[in-house]
Amino acid sequence: MKVFKFGGFSVSSAANIKQLVKIIKQGKDDQILIVVSAMGKTTDALEALSNAYNNAHDDTFQLLSGIKNYHEGVMKELFGTEHHPVFDEIANTFIEIEWMLDDEPHPDHDFSYDQIVSVGELLSSKIISAYLKECGLDNKWIDARSYIHTDNTYKEGAIDWAKTKTSISRLKDIPGQNIIISQGFIGGTSENFTTTLGREGSDYSAAVFASCLGAESLTVWKDVPGIMNADPALFGNAQKYERLPYSEALELAYYGANIIHPKTVKPLQNSDIPLYVKPFLSPDESGTRIDGTTELNTDIPAIIVKKNQTLLTVSTKDFSYMDETLLSILLKGLADAHIKQNMIQLSALSVSLSLDKDEIKLKKLTDQLSEMFEFSDIQGLSLLTILHFNPRDIDSYISGKSVLMEQFSKNKAQFILQ
Ligand code: ASP
Ligand code: MG
Repeated sequence: MKVFKFGGFSVSSAANIKQLVKIIKQGKDDQILIVVSAMGKTTDALEALSNAYNNAHDDTFQLLSGIKNYHEGVMKELFGTEHHPVFDEIANTFIEIEWMLDDEPHPDHDFSYDQIVSVGELLSSKIISAYLKECGLDNKWIDARSYIHTDNTYKEGAIDWAKTKTSISRLKDIPGQNIIISQGFIGGTSENFTTTLGREGSDYSAAVFASCLGAESLTVWKDVPGIMNADPALFGNAQKYERLPYSEALELAYYGANIIHPKTVKPLQNSDIPLYVKPFLSPDESGTRIDGTTELNTDIPAIIVKKNQTLLTVSTKDFSYMDETLLSILLKGLADAHIKQNMIQLSALSVSLSLDKDEIKLKKLTDQLSEMFEFSDIQGLSLLTILHFNPRDIDSYISGKSVLMEQFSKNKAQFILQ
């Protein structure tokens, strides 16, 4: 079995969904499990809806109707009539959110976020399943919440691997069913509530399915030619990798290359399943293959820019040294607030950390530790990471910017730039 993942762009319009069908037709001699994201920017729109509901704003139904109109527009273009049964199915899927919106905000905002935002993937997968059938491609729609089992950490569900593997393995024996379609990004708790796996988590879902199925490969279809050593919009001479080892793909994703979700590679590496990143609009091109046998080519530097960074400086209040005990309290605070640090630098009386911008999480941290530490932050920065750098080229990467923090190791140079 092969696993194909189609992101928001690939399912954002009737034309793109037709392109998806073309790709499935080309591969239909294999058994394929399709994992889809929500259509276009639907997750952003549902996030806005969830915020409005959680804060009891009165524009929830207006926000919802924008989302409905978008989906209906795409369906009309695909099916040419409003009499196709999928219109009722989609209307019923929306009813679940409507019931919630009629109620008072739920006290756990993360819980209601997941119940609302998860609908994007349910909608897209139902529309695409119906359209594949319309095109003569019989398929089975499955609800990812019955296969990807998580704990109840809403917005960041942690996968119960043993249970998930047992459930997903059952998909191997569906007789005569060559195409299965499911959702990325969502999972279910043991009480049958919906969780999400973190923004952009559909790649990760696809890797979980591939790994638990022991799939032949996972292909992530994207609106880029493959994995590049730099963002071509920022660096004119960016080049595409034909092949990459897992270890390098892991690093690229970790430092913020916007190609695949950072959690995607590990499950594939553990099960030795190759990952292809291929261009959705030119499916015959080679894309990039990531696997465990490719040798790392250190001649090409990887240049990764992670935007929206906050540089947080944490100092001790009483001018005592930033020792192991204080450091461990700070790190525990970060973990409790679910904050991931991207770069850290220690000095005698303070620690500086680069964090993804998230004011709610940052406030949680600073409130919790305000008795022990002084906090100050600078927002709107970027983190530049260069792997396999050539010291001669460094100046060209940072010219015109001010460097607020830097770190060098043998293979890696990092800068916080303003
Ligand atoms: N639809 C979700 C998001 O936009 C998950 C994904 O696309 O990977 O974050
Ligand atoms: Mg997406």
